[in-house]
Amino acid sequence: MNTHPRIILHTRREASVRRRHPWLFSGAVARIEGQPQSGALVAICSADGAFLAWGHYSAASQIRARLFAWEENCAPETADFWRARLERAVAARKPLLADGTTTACRLVNAESDGIPGLIVDWYGDVVVVQYLSAGVEARRELFNELLMALLHPATLYERSDVDVREKERLAPRVGLLAGAEPPEVVEIREHGLRFGVDVRHGHKTGFYLDQRDNRARLRAAVVQCHAPTVLNAFAYTGGFAVYALAGGAAAVTNVDTSAEALRLGRENLACNGFAEAAVEDIEGDAFTALRELHRQKHAFDVVILDPPKFAFTQSDVQRAARGYKDINMQAIRLLRPGGLLFTFSCSGAISADLFQKIVFGAALDVKRDVQIIGRMMQSSDHPVALTFPEGEYLKGLMCRVVG
Ligand code: SAH
Repeated sequence: MNTHPRIILHTRREASVRRRHPWLFSGAVARIEGQPQSGALVAICSADGAFLAWGHYSAASQIRARLFAWEENCAPETADFWRARLERAVAARKPLLADGTTTACRLVNAESDGIPGLIVDWYGDVVVVQYLSAGVEARRELFNELLMALLHPATLYERSDVDVREKERLAPRVGLLAGAEPPEVVEIREHGLRFGVDVRHGHKTGFYLDQRDNRARLRAAVVQCHAPTVLNAFAYTGGFAVYALAGGAAAVTNVDTSAEALRLGRENLACNGFAEAAVEDIEGDAFTALRELHRQKHAFDVVILDPPKFAFTQSDVQRAARGYKDINMQAIRLLRPGGLLFTFSCSGAISADLFQKIVFGAALDVKRDVQIIGRMMQSSDHPVALTFPEGEYLKGLMCRVVG
C-alpha cells in the first residue's frame, strides 16, 4: 500500500471518480488521513478504503483534489510520469504545426490533457504557461524544466494572471521563467496568415488560439460570398478581420473597447498586405455601436459576434442570457437578407442548447427568419476529454438570415 495522504470518500460518493471525472468536490470527502499540504499528491479512496485515483490536493478550493490517474502503480510522483504526459500532449499537436503554415497552438489543455491546471501555449519559439491549480503550482520548477528540455524554446514566459487562481488562494504571477525576454510583439502564422501577439499584456496568453478553426471557417464562407461587407464585433486584434479579407471581403468594420487591441489589429492588416482603407475601427462598446450602426441604416453581409465571457457562474446565467440575446438581436437586425451570422459564447455556464435558444429568441424578437448552417466549438488543439465535459466552453452557431 502506498504511504501518501489519503482522502476517504463518503459512501455512495465515488461515482464521479469511477467515471474518471477530474474534479473531486469537498462535499464528497468524509475524512483525510495524513496532513497534505496544498498541492500534495493524495490517494483518493472509497469509504471502505479501496484505492480509486491519484490527485493533487487543494486546501482552499471547493475542488478539493484534481484527479489525473486511476492506476495505483503508475508512479505519479516522478518526473517521468509528467514528462510522458507532456510528450503525449505535444505529440498530438504535431500534425497541426507540420506544414509550417500554422506556428502557434495550445500544446497542453489542462484537465483534458491529463495535467489538471496546466496550460501551455506555443507561439513559434516563445512558450507561455499558466499554472492554475495548487498541484501544478507546487511542481512549477519541475514543469519549467521539463518544458525547456522538451520544447527548447527561446523563451518560457508565465501568464498566471487569471482569476481562477484566487480560488486556490494563489496570487497572480507574470514574468520570464527561462530563456530570453520575449519580443514586444511575437510574430506567428495561422493558416498562412500573419499575426503579432503581445504575450506580456495580451488577453489570455496573448491570442485567442481557440478560435483558429472558426476563423478558417469564416474565411471559407466569405470565399463563397461576393465581396461581402463584414462587421467584426468584439474584434480584439482583428483575427476574424484578417481572415475575412483573405477570403475576399470588400470591407470590414471592427468594434472593440480596447484601443490597444485595435492598434495591433491595424498592424496585423499591414503585415498581411491588406489596404488600411478596407477596414474601419470603432473603438467603443459593441452594444451601443451596433445600435448606432442600425440607426444610421448600415447593413452587412456577414456579422461576427465573439463577446467575452458574460457568465462566470450558474448564478450569472440569466443576466448573461439577456446580454447574449440583446447583442444577437442587434447583429441580426444589421444583416441583409441572405447574410451570415457567426455568433459565439465562451461562457462554460451557457450550454450549447441554451445558446441556441437565446439566438432563437433574438431572431424571433427582431422578426427575421434564421437558419443554422453550422455548429462550432473551440479549435482541435483545445480538446475536450470525454470524462470532462466542462472543458467544452466555446460554442458557436453559423446562421443564415433568410429574410
Ligand atoms: N474575436 C477575437 C477575440 C475576441 S475576445 C479573436 O478572434 O481574436 C473579446 C473582445 O471583446 C476583447 O478584445 C475585448 O476587448 C472586447 N470587449 C469586451 N467588452 C466589450 C464591449 N462591451 N464592447 C466591445 N468590445 C468589448
